[in-house]
Order: sequence, then structure tokens, then C-alpha cells
Amino acid sequence: MRIDVLTLFPEMFTGVLGTSILKRAAEPIANPADPDDVRGPVVSYHVHDIRRHTTNKHGKVDQPPYGGGPGLVMQCQPVYDAVLAAEAEDPTPARRVLMTPQGTPLTQPIVERLAGEKRLLIIAGHYEGIDERVIEALEPEEVSVGDYVLSGGELPAMVLIDTVVRLLPGVLGDSQSAAHDSFSPGAQRLLDHPHYTRPAEWRGRAAPEVLLSGDHARIAAWRAEQARRRTRERRPDLLDGREST
Ligand code: SAH
Repeated sequence: MRIDVLTLFPEMFTGVLGTSILKRAAEPIANPADPDDVRGPVVSYHVHDIRRHTTNKHGKVDQPPYGGGPGLVMQCQPVYDAVLAAEAEDPTPARRVLMTPQGTPLTQPIVERLAGEKRLLIIAGHYEGIDERVIEALEPEEVSVGDYVLSGGELPAMVLIDTVVRLLPGVLGDSQSAAHDSFSPGAQRLLDHPHYTRPAEWRGRAAPEVLLSGDHARIAAWRAEQARRRTRERRPDLLDGREST
């Protein structure tokens, strides 16, 4: 997958895209059993500075809103030109995504769908947002990371990238580990069960005996029950229409 990001603050992405799982996903994958078997990276990141596309001689990309009011609005031209220039770098058509609090709230099924795309182009707004006309012209899918407002679309873009990239094949070591997380198909879109590791007793708290029993059927039943219980307690909305009790 190719991911293009358009932002006024490209430096914000360096740490996140250059660390841990997101970094590894952009590197070639070697097969430990066969040194000659090296697969290409699963993803490539291309972060573009919208400001480079301004035609304003002072490098301005924003202006006060028509009609008055606080803040600044990002202008159409730099955003539009930046999108077209980024897209022209590669013939693969891009699914355009605009990060905005007014978009569809991001959920795991949306992440799964976007993870099936060959190319994403993510636009991060700033200030009061972006002139509505360029949104109409570009027709991006509008995605929100939740019902709260951030000062810019950079962190939301990083949230989207992380959620998508960890689903790409080969990115997580154990291919099953993403499938069973909360909200995922392997967890029946409920919350995950609680997790425990060594030691068996810590500060007088014992790990559940069943998990040390080696009885896989009992363990699976216990985990399923725990997942249901927590979902009922914490997120009953996830069970709506699925449980009679
Ligand atoms: N005036 C706008 C908010 C602008 S916030 C409004 O009230 O709808 C500035 C930028 O931050 C937005 O353009 C968007 O890219 C980003 N942003 C803020 N909150 C967000 C959220 N919950 N989800 C996705 N992007 C968000």
C-alpha cells in the first residue's frame, strides 16, 4: 500500500512513522528461515508539505473566514495543487480521505475496508479547517476520530495510518493477533478478554487458574465469557440486538 499524507506540519509524522510497527512495515521483510527470501515493504509513506504548493509569495496558505469570525481557513488552491501533485507521483489511483470532526466516526470495519485499498491519500486540516469548495471538488471520504476537536488533522491522520497499517498482511508478527482484538471479527466485534502473563501471583493477586490449566477448550470458553461480560458492562451498545439477557 502507498500512503500519501498532505499536511502543513510534515515534521509531526517523523517520529510516529519512524518507530516500531509503522517503521517496520515500511522496511523489506526477510524470511528468517531463508536469507534469500526478502519481500518488499508492505507500505510506503509519502508526506507532502501543502505549503510548498502555495502561489502566495509570503508562503501563506490560510486567510480569515469570509463572513467574519475567529481563526483562519486553509485556502483552496494550495490544498488542491498539493493533492494533484502528490497523486501525479504514482499512477495508482488514490482513495482520498479528509480528516475532519464532521466525518464518519472511524470504526474497525471502516479501517478494514481502507486496509484493502492500494493507495490512500490523507488530508490533514488545520486552523478552522479547509475552504468548503476544495472539499467539494476533491470529494474525499470524510473521516473523524471521535466527537472531540483537535487543533489539526495530523494526529487523526496518524491514528488512521496506524489502524490501517497494522492490518496489512505480514505487519504484525502473529497474523492472528489483530483478528482477535476488540471490535474485530475474531472477537465477534465485542471487547477483547483480559490478558495475564507471568508471574502467576503478583502482590497477592493470582492469575485466573483456568489460564494455567493447559485446557484449551476451557480457556476459550472462559475468554469468550469474559469478553461478553466486559462488553455488557462497558459497551452494551456493541451487543444491541445480539443478546437477549
Ligand atoms: N472548525 C472545525 C474544526 C477544525 S479543527 C469544526 O468545528 O468542524 C482543525 C482540523 O483538525 C480539521 O480541519 C481536521 O483536519 C482536524 N480535526 C480536528 N478534530 C478532528 C477529529 N475529531 N477527527 C478528525 N480530524 C479532526
